[in-house]
Amino acid sequence: MHSRNNPLPPVVQGLRSGCCPDPEPRRDGTPGRHLIRSRHYKNVTNDDGHHVSAGEDRKVPWVAIAPVVHAIRVLERIVPDGELLFSSAHHDFINHRGHYGVLKGKNLKQRIEDFVAWANREALVQGLPEQTIPADPLGAIGLARFRRTLAWHVARRPGGLVALAIQYGHMRSVLDARTSSGYGTRSRHGIHGVLDVETALAAADTAARLRERIASGEKISGPAARRALTAAAQTPRFEGRIVPKTFTKNSTAFLARDGVVLYDNPDAFLICAFIHDNALCEPELGATAPRQYDCQPGCGNTVRTDTHARLLRERAGELDQLAASAPAPVGRRLTANAARLRDTADIHDATAQSANAIS
Ligand code: SF4
Repeated sequence: MHSRNNPLPPVVQGLRSGCCPDPEPRRDGTPGRHLIRSRHYKNVTNDDGHHVSAGEDRKVPWVAIAPVVHAIRVLERIVPDGELLFSSAHHDFINHRGHYGVLKGKNLKQRIEDFVAWANREALVQGLPEQTIPADPLGAIGLARFRRTLAWHVARRPGGLVALAIQYGHMRSVLDARTSSGYGTRSRHGIHGVLDVETALAAADTAARLRERIASGEKISGPAARRALTAAAQTPRFEGRIVPKTFTKNSTAFLARDGVVLYDNPDAFLICAFIHDNALCEPELGATAPRQYDCQPGCGNTVRTDTHARLLRERAGELDQLAASAPAPVGRRLTANAARLRDTADIHDATAQSANAIS
């Protein structure tokens, strides 16, 4: 299923029509979450230690957000029930050949280019020329670079869209749980390696931002403040973004150093100076990253700067504005959240110290 020429994770290649059924409504009548169930193949063995080519069901399902569910529904219209969503036989529109298995790298690469062309056409039709995807000086995007783009998003979990932040956090958590991901185990090939690289680069960005804020006179608070200062000073700078092959190994080794990796957590308005045993978000055994989407107040890994306090107050102001036009029960919740954010900012102001005073 998975070859060196085809770097998409087998977890995606192994998806079949019907993998993401519409969920039953919850008891309170609200819609349940869509879950994707799939099989994995690597390192699946029977009691005698022989490889089981049929694979086995993944223990951890993926939480699917609306765009992913829509994409699966489109693919389910292309392939018959129970067939692989990327079945080669059903996607080979030109030759209609009786291929077996999933689409291979060459076809997927062409589809990425077709998608870019379609997106650019749509952007122009919609009068949004600034949203076109520029031609890439390094050539076609290809699967490896496309995968790196996905990893960039997973590693940085851009804030703003709550559903996406949860999804990316969940993906990071599932991919990071080397024990729960059957094809992951201890090896860091494929998506794991790419994710490690992007996570290390994101941590370096976070460290660089922290150094800049301190240099500009910002104060710092939180139980992990001293540790974060040390980590920021020790984190290497990565000039440019050309990633040599050896960098994967270095990234994995860097991330495994508990206590020195700084994770930006814009949704919680903090930097997480991650030590596994301190983490209140309960990362899985052996995980090298926090479950940032489940960040808990009062965690010993928390660090905040004056910028975080300012952003907390800005967000509180936005919530107050929303509360003013919301129905009463929702408005009360928003106002309470705004007050909580302001309290957090006040605690920062009351306890923050300069870097010199801390070290
Ligand atoms: S709970 Fe602690 S370890 Fe988890 S994300 Fe928040 S600060 Fe980091």
